Formats: sequence, structure tokens, C-alpha cells
Amino acid sequence: MACTAEDVARALRAVAAVVKEHREELIRLDREIGDGDHGENLARGFTALVSKLDGDVPALPGGVLRLAATTLISTVGGAAGPLYGTAFLRAATSVGDAATLDAASVAGALQAALEGVVARGKAAVGDKTMVDALTPAVVAAEAASAGGGDVGAVLTAAAEAAEAGATATVPLVARKGRASYLGERSAGHLDPGARSTALVLRSFAGQVLS
Ligand code: ADP
Ligand code: MG
Ligand code: MG
Repeated sequence: MACTAEDVARALRAVAAVVKEHREELIRLDREIGDGDHGENLARGFTALVSKLDGDVPALPGGVLRLAATTLISTVGGAAGPLYGTAFLRAATSVGDAATLDAASVAGALQAALEGVVARGKAAVGDKTMVDALTPAVVAAEAASAGGGDVGAVLTAAAEAAEAGATATVPLVARKGRASYLGERSAGHLDPGARSTALVLRSFAGQVLS
């Protein structure tokens, strides 16, 4: 079964719940190598998104993703707001006006999201950012899709790879974003944006029907 706009909306509500649950953890991670607002920024953005979805769920999956993009861009702020916003916007463009999303379109949307984040933030793998979680997620999603996996399998593969990618940011020295101001002192800490990216993908994997 492919996923509908309602499925995407339900997945985003799950993301909001998980972000809220991990708000303190993300704040703590960002306090270690940034300014401590990442959990608050994301919680505010996804809470605003849930309010909009409570009002009206767009008819198409792409419309839901576009609503997520515009809401996150206008409410999250900081570095993560435009980056997450661009990710969802590119994902929305990638799925176009399809009525439902299948495994290949979900993998394609993840690839488009990564391209958007890289175009906007200019980070490469190893710079200790959300790109370190999203890049392996895209590779794993494409492999799962090419291997015949369904939407659930694609998202589960993406989530697992993102978690490993996020964990691998710990020893890295940050080369982008606020954490880069710390230089060598940024090593030894988990990047908050990589952690939140893994959480978002994990919530998607747990919710979207396959
Ligand atoms: P700010 O640093 O403005 O307070 P947040 O705390 O919300 O913003 O987000 C910080 C996260 O944003 C970082 O942990 C990192 O993953 C991500 N980030 C910062 N700069 C970039 C960039 N240029 N490219 C990709 N991700 C980035
Ligand atoms: Mg911050
Ligand atoms: Mg900030």
C-alpha cells in the first residue's frame, strides 16, 4: 500500500510528538556545542504544524509536505529552520501532485531533501551537521527501494542509517554552523541537528503505512 496525504499528516504528528518528547535532550546537545535552542526551535515548529494540520489536511502528500516546509520556515528560526524547511520543500517538489507515494517516490523525496539541505547549507559529510545523518539515510533508502522494499522498509532503512550517521558525528570537529566556532572543542559531542534528523526519520518510519 502506498501512502496518502493523511498518512503523511499522521507521520508528521508523530514527528511532533517525538520532537516534544526529546526537546530537553536536543536542548542539552545544542547547549554543549551551540546555543541551546535546537529542541525549543524544532518543538515550536512542529507544534505549529500540528495546529495547521488540525485545521485542514491538504489533499495531496506534496501539499502536506509543502505545508510542513512553509510552517517550519516561518516558525523554527536559527540554522535549522531554513534547512528543515528547504528539505521539506524539495521533498514536496519531488513528489509533485501524486495522490499517493510509493517506495521509489519516498526514496526520491529523501534524495531531493538532502540536495536542498546541501544547496542551502553547503555542508559536506564529515562537517558534523544534519548532512551526516541524512546522507547515509538517502543511500540506504535508495538501496531498499531498488531492492524492492515497500515504503515502510525504505523509511526503516533510512532511519537506521541516519541513527548510525548521527552517532558517527560524536568524534568529529564541526566545520559548519555554530559548533564550528568551537573548533577542536566541538569533538566528543553528538551534533544536535544530526540527532534530530535521525529522530524525524525514525518517527516517519514508525508511522507511514507501507
Ligand atoms: P542555530 O545553530 O542557529 O541555533 P539550531 O540550533 O536550531 O540552529 O540548529 C543547529 C543544527 O543545524 C546543527 O546541529 C547542525 O546539524 C545544523 N546545521 C548548522 N549549520 C548547518 C549547515 N550549514 N548545513 C547543514 N546543517 C547545519
Ligand atoms: Mg542552536
Ligand atoms: Mg540559535
